[in-house]
Amino acid sequence: MYLERLKLTDRVALVTGGAQGIGLAIVEALAEAGARVTMADRSEAALAAGVAALADKGHVVEPMVMDVTDSAQVTAEIDGLEERAGRVDILVNNAGIARSETAAETVADEHWLNVLDVNLNGTFWCARAAGRHMLARGSGAIVNVGSMSGFIVNRPQGQSYYNASKAAVHQLTKSLAAEWASRGVRVNAVAPTYIRTPLNAFADQTSEMYRRWIDGTPMGRLGEPEEVASVVHFLASDAASLMTGSVVVVDGGYTCW
Ligand code: NAD
Repeated sequence: MYLERLKLTDRVALVTGGAQGIGLAIVEALAEAGARVTMADRSEAALAAGVAALADKGHVVEPMVMDVTDSAQVTAEIDGLEERAGRVDILVNNAGIARSETAAETVADEHWLNVLDVNLNGTFWCARAAGRHMLARGSGAIVNVGSMSGFIVNRPQGQSYYNASKAAVHQLTKSLAAEWASRGVRVNAVAPTYIRTPLNAFADQTSEMYRRWIDGTPMGRLGEPEEVASVVHFLASDAASLMTGSVVVVDGGYTCW
């Protein structure tokens, strides 16, 4: 019974920012659990590489070019998927950018707006579009990828805009969860620590900054994308049927100190 509830057989899932990094691992985890997964990203070339990488592992996934900041495109693409597939059972709002290492007093308007646009607005546009269909059917699971940066302030790098955007994603998660819980739609989030992906490539592993990240982590290491994907899989599954409005830290203990 317990393992059965982790299965996603024939569920229809959409993962944004799915072409690489944590998103790609989430696509793989959901596909392995039996879901029919659509991988959305803004870059066609990155999508092609992601689809090919998963095909090598025996998974067939559908690519979708979609920029989460374009609310009209988001609505049209999600409505289209709903029509093609008959439903969207799972939405993972993973697309996000960091643009770390800019001191608050030097942040340009464009920089601030861009990070909030992708991380917060994009999450809302997708949740709203998929949520409408889920609410009409009375079932669905949404998992947002937040960050431990929504709870703590990273150091030493400045990234006030990123931290604020992820705290907002956590509060959006709780707000949607409360609004939609009685209508069958669960909304949760994960809050990862530093994960080994291209998003963190700006940190040279021999640098003082990298050393401080590791020293600040009780487990003494970065996380791997699949260690986040397995928690997203759980939250998206019936095994998490009593969970909504939770923001689950996946952080190697970082927020303990
Ligand atoms: P990544 O840069 O490796 O991948 C992000 C993906 O999102 C890319 O494929 C990119 O093309 C896509 N994307 C960016 N903007 C988009 C847009 N407007 N529309 C559609 N797709 C878009 O990043 P990652 O490390 O895999 O991060 C994934 C998520 O995890 C992000 O929300 C990030 O904030 C969060 N996160 C990452 C870390 C980390 O240390 N890597 C830690 C905590 C949270």
